[in-house]
Amino acid sequence: MSIRVQKIFEALFELEEIRGIFRDALPTGLSAGQEAAFNKKVSDLKAIIADLEAGTGTPKVTKIAGTLDVRSREEQYINIHPIQAAGRLTTEARKALISYGDGYSTCDFCRKPFRLDKISRPGIDEFHADLAKWLNMDQARVVPGARRGFQAVANTLVNKGDSVIVSALAHYTEFLAVENAGGQVKEVPLNDKHIVTADATAQKIEDVKKETGKLPVLVMIDHFDYQYANEHEITGIGKVAHQYGIPFLYNGAYTVGVQPVDGKKIGADFVVGSGHKSMASVAPSGVLAINEEFAPKALRTTAMVGDLTKRKFGIKEVEMLGCTLMGGTLLSMMASFPTVKERVLHWDEEIRKSNYFIDALLRINGSKVLSEYPRKHSLTKVDTTGSFDTVAQTHKRRGFYFSDELTKRGIVGEFAGATRTWKLNTYGLSWDKIHYLADAFTEIAEKYEIKVEKAADKK
Ligand SMILES: *Cc1c(COP(=O)(O)O)cnc(C)c1O
Repeated sequence: MSIRVQKIFEALFELEEIRGIFRDALPTGLSAGQEAAFNKKVSDLKAIIADLEAGTGTPKVTKIAGTLDVRSREEQYINIHPIQAAGRLTTEARKALISYGDGYSTCDFCRKPFRLDKISRPGIDEFHADLAKWLNMDQARVVPGARRGFQAVANTLVNKGDSVIVSALAHYTEFLAVENAGGQVKEVPLNDKHIVTADATAQKIEDVKKETGKLPVLVMIDHFDYQYANEHEITGIGKVAHQYGIPFLYNGAYTVGVQPVDGKKIGADFVVGSGHKSMASVAPSGVLAINEEFAPKALRTTAMVGDLTKRKFGIKEVEMLGCTLMGGTLLSMMASFPTVKERVLHWDEEIRKSNYFIDALLRINGSKVLSEYPRKHSLTKVDTTGSFDTVAQTHKRRGFYFSDELTKRGIVGEFAGATRTWKLNTYGLSWDKIHYLADAFTEIAEKYEIKVEKAADKK
């Protein structure tokens, strides 16, 4: 770790320890002992700051709680990890996390009727309204991950033995949500371009009807899938679902928070997004937005009465198990939200950066893109069997030579050792980083004598 990054963490930890002194103190102030500890720590902090400023010193603190490594990937490297790119916290989210990290920190001013989405200090009620409006849906709830959104919907609509239409590229959490509700997934096949079409969805609905004698009870399709990040015919699929009177869940795990999403325009009954994947939020977090028709069903309130005590819990929502994100997760979502709302307006720029990098990769002889091309997403599946893997065949480090070369250049997040088919995500990288990344790949190719076409040769 660079000594300056090391000293930033040491300073942050020192400040947390100073904060700890105040947490231990009486409301009347520090004791003599605490005052002494405070002075000692402030003086230690100054020494750390002096090292930070000068870039001097040696690492003093390398573990948290004696065992946990300090994670400094985002400070030290360009991280192209497929699922991490758009979940990196904003600076405001990191501030919210240190401020609201305590357990039930959202509950300071929770008043009747005691439900998370009704809390007005901090403005959680307003955030829920904003989320719904932003997605152009009627209601929104925060959930612990997109998967919990699928689960809430599946538990609402799916009974034992019911069929649910998903895509042949569906995420495993969609399978599990259906399984959890006692249903059966029925997968729509892909066309030869690895796209889920509206026609194929209609055909699958017909097939299921013929096979089971019943229509599926839910159509749940990813706008961009997790394997290729290809764009599927989401609006057409929504139309097809409605022609059959089947509710439609739009899976926006790879869209909500990075590109504009308009639930009504798509024709979605449910929009699901992932906070930690695409909304610059702490895990586990996500959003479930619902239209007017399905809100009363998916957000039904408890009817349970205790047999002894006759207790009832009024407006608690069954699928939410009352309250969902009660601390740093939600506050990080709220703190990132202004940035997220702004950044989705610049999705076209992210696409340009993605294509710029992919074009550079394609100039390295033997490299291929398995995702649709030109790219419509920052996540891409590439095939370097014909380029970087040819070196791995004879290299003593096998495929790891490639990770070694990338790490040496300050790039992480590729699947270590993989030189055939693998995924990367350029989301949120500045143009400087994109240029650096493209140059690094070119340099590695040249070092191992893989032919690289000149930029002008292309097209
Ligand atoms: C990542 C992903 C999910 C799961 O999201 P979580 O928020 O981690 O539950 C679901 N669907 C798709 C398509 C994904 O890419």
